[in-house]
Amino acid sequence: MSILFARVAVENTAYHFDRTFDYLVPEALLEQAKPGCRALVPFGAGNSQRLAMILEISPEKKTQNEMKQVVAVLDEAPLLTSEAISLVYWLKDRCFCTLFEAVKLLLPAGINVRLKTEYTLVQGKAQEMETFSVEERTVLQYLAGCSRPVEREKLLKATGLPVDSTAPEKLFKRGFLQKTGAAVRQIKDAAQKMVRLTDEEPLSKLTPKQRAVCRILQEAGSASLKEVCYFAGVTPAVVNTLVTKGVACYYETEIYRNPYDQVQNPVVQQELLLSDEQQSAYQHLLAQYRSGMGGVSLLFGVTGSGKTSVFMRLIDEVLADGKQTIVMVPEISLTPQSLARFHQRYGRRVAVFHSGLSLSERLDEWKRVRRGEVSIAVGTRSAVFAPFDHLGLVVMDEEQEHTYKSESSPRYHARDVAKFRCAYHKALLVLASATPSIESYYFAQVGRYTFNRLPSRYGGARLPQVRFVDMNRELEAGNESIYSRALLAELEKNIKIHKQSIILLNRRGYNTFVSCKSCGNVVTCPNCSISLTYHAANQRLMCHYCGYSVPFSTECPTCHADKVHYAGFGTQRAEQQLLELLPEARVLRLDTDVAMTRFAYEEKLQSFARGEYDVIVGTQMVAKGLDFENVTLVGVLSADQALYGDDFRSYERAFDLLTQVAGRAGRGQYAGEAIIQTFTPENSVLALAARQDYPAFYEGEIAVRKGMLYPPFADLCVVGFVGIHEEKVARASEAFLQMLRSLAQAEYPQEPMRVLNPSPALIGKVSNKYRYKLIVKCRNSRSFRQMISRLLIAFAKDRTYRDVTAFADINPDRIL
Ligand code: ADP
Ligand code: ZN
Repeated sequence: MSILFARVAVENTAYHFDRTFDYLVPEALLEQAKPGCRALVPFGAGNSQRLAMILEISPEKKTQNEMKQVVAVLDEAPLLTSEAISLVYWLKDRCFCTLFEAVKLLLPAGINVRLKTEYTLVQGKAQEMETFSVEERTVLQYLAGCSRPVEREKLLKATGLPVDSTAPEKLFKRGFLQKTGAAVRQIKDAAQKMVRLTDEEPLSKLTPKQRAVCRILQEAGSASLKEVCYFAGVTPAVVNTLVTKGVACYYETEIYRNPYDQVQNPVVQQELLLSDEQQSAYQHLLAQYRSGMGGVSLLFGVTGSGKTSVFMRLIDEVLADGKQTIVMVPEISLTPQSLARFHQRYGRRVAVFHSGLSLSERLDEWKRVRRGEVSIAVGTRSAVFAPFDHLGLVVMDEEQEHTYKSESSPRYHARDVAKFRCAYHKALLVLASATPSIESYYFAQVGRYTFNRLPSRYGGARLPQVRFVDMNRELEAGNESIYSRALLAELEKNIKIHKQSIILLNRRGYNTFVSCKSCGNVVTCPNCSISLTYHAANQRLMCHYCGYSVPFSTECPTCHADKVHYAGFGTQRAEQQLLELLPEARVLRLDTDVAMTRFAYEEKLQSFARGEYDVIVGTQMVAKGLDFENVTLVGVLSADQALYGDDFRSYERAFDLLTQVAGRAGRGQYAGEAIIQTFTPENSVLALAARQDYPAFYEGEIAVRKGMLYPPFADLCVVGFVGIHEEKVARASEAFLQMLRSLAQAEYPQEPMRVLNPSPALIGKVSNKYRYKLIVKCRNSRSFRQMISRLLIAFAKDRTYRDVTAFADINPDRIL
């Protein structure tokens, strides 16, 4: 009889106790226990059962712990491949997370949720019995006699239908049934949760907040949880209480079905003819892919040059080889159009991954990949984990985007994970952008990446003309509006000739901040060190960090004078002013408040494409990815907000934003123009962005990076400290610094590093917690990471700082 041990990662361990643990595999489980399967193991002093992931099965016991046995194996087939298991170790090493946190990244979010589904009949919907199948009729009749939701299994049993009957699901899709369930309740994105009132009379008196919610629901009939909270100015907890009281209920509507269910396979694949430029880039990339050596290539192409066409041709070849492709886009909601292009060309061979999908939808897509039913995964950064076995190509579109970096643990960058996976599979990684990150462009210059260029727009379209307006002059001329005369004139002209325009504003809300004219105080959030924003739609001041809100009042919270007023401007005011100045304009406002669901967003863009609007006014989300050939004018209301940011990447971000937004104009047969308003027209970055001269911009930036020892000339490790007492957080960061100094001197003298003194984070307080940071300029080596890991563990074990949390992030997108 053989004896085998399972090395597992255990769920919910603290970082400073985290490691693998060995368990004896009992004889009964020998067959079933395989690396990549989940298991239940006894853990800790009380031996309570914990979820674990088997990482290795071996005849040797390697770790020192008291020998216990695996209780159960939960999966029949492994969920993780051996590649995924090595990625787990890699993530722990790179991101200072626990093994199981890494495991979770690799599993679809819905997999730990038991999918209990309940159905209820939708009342008052006319039923013409002839249109239903026998099974469907049985279901309808049964549910007509039930006053409460019935669980799927029970329903099928009671009606004598087979366990895999599709009747309830079909009825749900046609709107005759409502569906609720445990999994539905766990969906994180509250926007997907709908609320309506029940017929119950409240048993006890309602609080004012609860009454506010009821009033809104009475008026609206139903609304998404997010909307209800927004308009009533309450937290979800208030709505939860109403649901517990039976006064309101949550439900799922049909609009939240998987929107990609309907995608059909194309009958014939359209031929894609490449321009000479595109063809040349494609040939080079193809050769690199065919070499079987993997590697990274930067595809540097101006906006509208057809980068997508190039990598689609490449994907055709990868598919023909029987291999698979991952395509990452910065944020799916930005690019419904590009997704449509993939569906048109590849039909059901495409799986879609993004956080807008419900848990069960994400689980379905993951299973389709795992079963080998699809060959292309398109999605946001989590798509990089798509469990393909024969990866041939990974594409990262707009590789400089900050959304590729996770801001919470595990703090991974999708580009690094992509490099790991491509190295494993000897696959090609293509980074595509018109404005690459300084780091990537540098690596392409020094030959670490290959370099391919698309210098001109596809089909002879010219890059838009960019013009600046000095807003100081506008003020001098007595124009106090946020629209310069030049921009207004062009907008008016554009509407007359039935062309469309896009206006970018870098903020949301009606006004940026609210201050008191008497004492000069800016009204700030009581929980965060950030100013509150006025929202016209609900007449409240809101914090965009923690969600705090209060009704707007002109009384100053500090000096109590009646002098509080708005300053700055937001999208709502930009929309309103535009309507006052150009009453005939049909304006579509797009920001995160309006585009609450991706469906609403896609619908709005479609009606814009049909010409039902003249102007889009919006935040960053309008700057990127949109491709409307009728758009010939782009206006940027204030470039200054983008320029004067807070860290060494501000200029890079500003250049990127301005180039991208200007790039929305003149993509088709008509020439485009961009008008950029600024109070600092002398800034050199603006002039470079106007010429859309990335290489010149790069030359300036790379010199600064070198002089200041910033990436790519050094790596930045930021250690963050978070706690409720400011003084303790400050002291903890000092103590960490001392520990770092002595450990580095004693054991890592060969590691190059420059340690900066700890300081408060840029936003020093969020949700009542103070934040400090410590920056180390270093080389991201194994031994450096080992040192940081040891420090984090020692820090967590030190009882003096037990109410301060520390975490480390190497090369974050923003310095804390
Ligand atoms: P980029 O991503 O480089 O900004 P896109 O891939 O969006 O550019 O291409 C810009 C426009 O040109 C799109 O409308 C696209 O359909 C069109 N286009 C690009 N290349 C081709 C091609 N080879 N054949 C037909 N249309 C193309
Ligand atoms: Zn706040």
